[in-house]
Amino acid sequence: MKRWSSLAALAAVFAFAASAQTVKVTPLGSIDGEFCPQDRALIFEDPNGTRILYDPGRSVAGATDPRLGKIDIILVSHMHGDHVGNAHNKAPNAGTCENPDISVSALPNSSAVNIALAKKAKIVSGSEMPPFFAAKLKANGGNPADSVVARFGGSVTLGGVRIATVTALHSNGLDPDYIGGDLGKAMKEAGIAGDVGLATGFVVRFSNGLVAYLSGDTGIVADQERAVRDYYHAKLAVMNMGDGLSTGPAEAAYVINELVKPASVIPSHANEVGTVNGKVRPGSKTEAFIKAVQVPAHVPLSGKTMEFDASGKCTAGC
Ligand SMILES: [Zn+2]
Repeated sequence: MKRWSSLAALAAVFAFAASAQTVKVTPLGSIDGEFCPQDRALIFEDPNGTRILYDPGRSVAGATDPRLGKIDIILVSHMHGDHVGNAHNKAPNAGTCENPDISVSALPNSSAVNIALAKKAKIVSGSEMPPFFAAKLKANGGNPADSVVARFGGSVTLGGVRIATVTALHSNGLDPDYIGGDLGKAMKEAGIAGDVGLATGFVVRFSNGLVAYLSGDTGIVADQERAVRDYYHAKLAVMNMGDGLSTGPAEAAYVINELVKPASVIPSHANEVGTVNGKVRPGSKTEAFIKAVQVPAHVPLSGKTMEFDASGKCTAGC
């Protein structure tokens, strides 16, 4: 009896120690201290040191961006250029928030592939995207096995972090610019894209127990309730709310309030100047979303690290 209770006490101590640890979230946007139209990229640092880059997009200034540091895993939600990175910032802070200097092409590889090659990182994607990434890595002297599949319903554990893909109701055509040659040219002229399967969102379980939902570009789907909330119990959500191409502020707020019900949310993919001098711009979609959600919304200001505990509560930097 005594032995069992001391074991239980020990387990409780370990559980407490794990939950007291935080996941650090650092946005790599276009301009330091702001939330800008092109901003998608976030770095998640697990308490165990594993560093994950989510959707590098165009605001990460390529593989040599000094803000990247060590990168172990790259998550790509889908193949659109503003997520996988068809072009990128000349340097961090190049240009303005509204018009960043994204004049550097990342074609035909993508920023995700270039960063994976430079950092010897793994790319985790779902659907039928992994063979594309494997082929690109191989064609550039990398290891095709560094492209890792996490298809709907399953998960992979890398660096102590468990990664699953979930439904995103969106499109996922591969721009022929990534294909090139006569085939790419013919497809471009016909106005059709390559088929790499469905777009995805992610659910990531960190070693401190925090479960985060990364929506990717999506509409409203029942899986946000049945899978993301009921099964995975996500406590932190990164929610795309730019409207037109994915849920807008009202739809995204419905997803948060009624379906996912996390403890905190980080708005993403606003496709507007979301902040001026680090403050939410009056009349912005970002402001409308923050007002509509019933949980704390933490604006991803570029370079500003936020910390989240296992319960999804921001404990520092918000
Ligand atoms: Zn998209």
